Amino acid sequence: MASRGTQCFLTIASRHYSSKADKNVAFLGLGNMGGFMAANIAKKGFNVRGYDPSKEALAAAAKNGVTSATSIAEAVDGADVVVSILPSNKVVLDAYLGDDGVVKHSAKGTLLIDSSTVDPNVPKQIFGVAQEAGKNFTDAPVSGGVMGAQNATLAFMAGGRKEDFERSLPILQCMGIKHFHCGEIGSGQVAKLTNNMLMGITGMATAECMNMGIKMGLNPKVLLDVLNNSSARSWSTEVYCPVPGLVPTAPSSRNYDNGFKNELMVKDLELASNMALGIRSPIPLGAVATQLYRVVQSRGFGQKDFSYVFKLLNEEVKNN
Ligand code: NAD
Repeated sequence: MASRGTQCFLTIASRHYSSKADKNVAFLGLGNMGGFMAANIAKKGFNVRGYDPSKEALAAAAKNGVTSATSIAEAVDGADVVVSILPSNKVVLDAYLGDDGVVKHSAKGTLLIDSSTVDPNVPKQIFGVAQEAGKNFTDAPVSGGVMGAQNATLAFMAGGRKEDFERSLPILQCMGIKHFHCGEIGSGQVAKLTNNMLMGITGMATAECMNMGIKMGLNPKVLLDVLNNSSARSWSTEVYCPVPGLVPTAPSSRNYDNGFKNELMVKDLELASNMALGIRSPIPLGAVATQLYRVVQSRGFGQKDFSYVFKLLNEEVKNN
């Protein structure tokens, strides 16, 4: 087992925080998001020990100052704080509550921060068990995508006890620039899923309406200028235009690659739909958006950015 370096602790303590501050961080899930996030924490001088079942992910993180662990138990041994960003409800529940999981193997008083996007009931479930075991759990999902993770410009939306949020800030600030405390445990997930359902709906609506205007013969650039200076303006028209070639930095202008994958949009819309179902909140537009992004996925474009839905609608037009 790798030992945690005491020399480094002193550097951090003097550079950033009081001697009582958290210095040792365990990071679980070193994928597209987590790899960059863990690296950014290490860059600020914290001792970061990472775990991921993927050897490639571990090796890549090691190049960025993240010490490798071979299990969750090893990663959390001696950690003051645990950060995780994992793919699904089941993986998160297993990682925290399983026999080999975080709650069982972390020390009392450890701060546990999960940044995965999951059903709001998942953090609620973990919070109760963690609290019984003397550990503090908070949900802190993120917005900003892989670019935001790489550039440490993520937005965090946290749920849980205010004091845990405040304690988490020195770590979250290594990875992001906006940090919101949304309320009780699970409310970070509620905010995240609400944002992503709205983003999915406006993205789909932008694709559909721009396709119509272009089909009617409007110059795409003129149409976008009109929208961006009229009442239909949104993040989708200004930043994330689904029509290729109009916004150079949008995924549509790089063949819909390296964006927010359509399959992740489907995942988030399904989580949001389940949440709405649980409280019988009507989501007519959210339901249609979910179905349409599912069609994109079933046609084999799940890896493309979610704005690929424009291409699908555009092809439909050509086929008529
Ligand atoms: P990813 O698939 O690239 O990474 C997930 C990593 O978790 C993988 O490397 C996998 O091997 C690892 N993993 C699986 N089981 C594990 C375990 N038990 N312990 C430790 N590691 C384990 O996914 P990602 O794109 O990094 O997304 C991760 C989470 O962040 C998801 O919940 C996603 O919805 C959310 N998210 C993603 C984005 C994005 O743009 N990619 C944006 C915001 C939020």
